[in-house]
Amino acid sequence: MKCPFCQHPENKVVDSRDTREGDEVRRRRECLACEQRFTTYERIDAVMPMVVKKDGGREPWDGDKVLAGLRKACEKRPVPADVVEEMAHRVEKAVRGSGANEVSSSQVGEAVMDCLKATDDVAYVRFASVYRSFRDIDEFMSALESLVKERGGSGGG
Ligand SMILES: [Zn+2]
Repeated sequence: MKCPFCQHPENKVVDSRDTREGDEVRRRRECLACEQRFTTYERIDAVMPMVVKKDGGREPWDGDKVLAGLRKACEKRPVPADVVEEMAHRVEKAVRGSGANEVSSSQVGEAVMDCLKATDDVAYVRFASVYRSFRDIDEFMSALESLVKERGGSGGG
């Protein structure tokens, strides 16, 4: 990121608040050489952090997986589909907002729980009770799937 006035390569961010405009973040910078200020527009797509799983493995951010988890938790609950999708966006925002290169899968789970808590108590408890005991979104997903299958099949409680 060179200074547009003197081409000096080093600068500092003077306005720490990121102003999000569509897919871009606007930052005010100040050249360390000539002290002129200028604005940069940096694309924010493809900057989702890697997700570090419980076993230490890493995988790319998967928004679909989060959405699927939210849908499962909200199954048979009076939560409209667009609200579920909005929650998925909120989780994504929260994770991206942390600015980290990596997040643990448990952090993702916590962000999901925060969203559910504010939306539907039953969906939250459903997610939290299962998720907390696994601390991993993959284990959680398979557990929820079998849970839903059992309840749907047997009919008993
Ligand atoms: Zn300069």
